[in-house]
Amino acid sequence: MIASGTALPPRPRPRLDGPERPFWQGLREGEIRVQQCSHCKRKRFPVSRYCPHCHSPEFSWEATGTQGTIESFCVFHKCYFPGFVKDMPYAVIQVRMDDADLRFYSNPIGIDDDELRSGMTMEAVFERIDDELTLLKFKPLEARR
Ligand SMILES: [Zn+2]
Repeated sequence: MIASGTALPPRPRPRLDGPERPFWQGLREGEIRVQQCSHCKRKRFPVSRYCPHCHSPEFSWEATGTQGTIESFCVFHKCYFPGFVKDMPYAVIQVRMDDADLRFYSNPIGIDDDELRSGMTMEAVFERIDDELTLLKFKPLEARR
């Protein structure tokens, strides 16, 4: 239990100035940017130096689509990071993007945890935290019943 007036610990933040800097820059500008192999044209995330399919070191950063499908999800009831204590319980979803063999782990928004289902179509939401950080979240695309 946290007494009122006590400052909550900050949420953990991703490193924004590492090899994935173009990804974070893209989110700030409303795009999901990932590496695309210059040789076999496959997209990949997270960052890797060589293409996992053809081993080419050549790549560019390209925008990818914003719709995907929940492959799996998990609702956390134990608080592993003190910074998330106000979010408990929270869901983590694994989304496979429709236009590329890409998967992102994220949080759903606009849906109750007990309504989450594998196979749901989701759409990216760019959640601005502050000037430096925008997070990739997902909301359901299907009409709610
Ligand atoms: Zn390749």
